[in-house]
Amino acid sequence: MFSGKTRELISRAERAEIAGNSIKAFKPSIDDRYEEEKISSHVGRSLEAEVLEPEEDLAENFEDLKEDVVIIDEANFFPDELVEVCQNLAEGGKRVILAGTDQTFRGEPFPPLPKLCAIAEEVEKLNAVCVKCGGVATRNQRLVDGEPAEKDSPTILVGAEESYEARCRHCHELR
Ligand SMILES: [Zn+2]
Repeated sequence: MFSGKTRELISRAERAEIAGNSIKAFKPSIDDRYEEEKISSHVGRSLEAEVLEPEEDLAENFEDLKEDVVIIDEANFFPDELVEVCQNLAEGGKRVILAGTDQTFRGEPFPPLPKLCAIAEEVEKLNAVCVKCGGVATRNQRLVDGEPAEKDSPTILVGAEESYEARCRHCHELR
């Protein structure tokens, strides 16, 4: 979050297209609200994307793809099955580029990102700036009503009352 990873994902997709590759982008539906069929960065660039229900027949959506390059945003909202899907796509000659948050709000590895990082040919870790001290922010501070979130609250929480900010490991807090 706030690290520019969606911007980097869009840049990589654009470079793949300039190089003459066809691309297809996907993003997860993360709540019941209408999801725009595009991946958008904070600076206003966007990419058309198909919205997938993460828990529903994930592999089927990637069958018979004609495009050369598969782009996936918010990989942390998909189940572990995404690892096998990406492995199969890459084995089948596709280039897979994905972005995601690698730590939960607790500062723990966020599945399936650790496994995806392990099997990837290349990993780029983008960090944000800690809003408290200006240090390197690797964590997502979840705040509920302005207070640090309780550590046993759900990993994926989609509601109106929580917010996030970028913090370093020293300024990150749990309740
Ligand atoms: Zn800090």
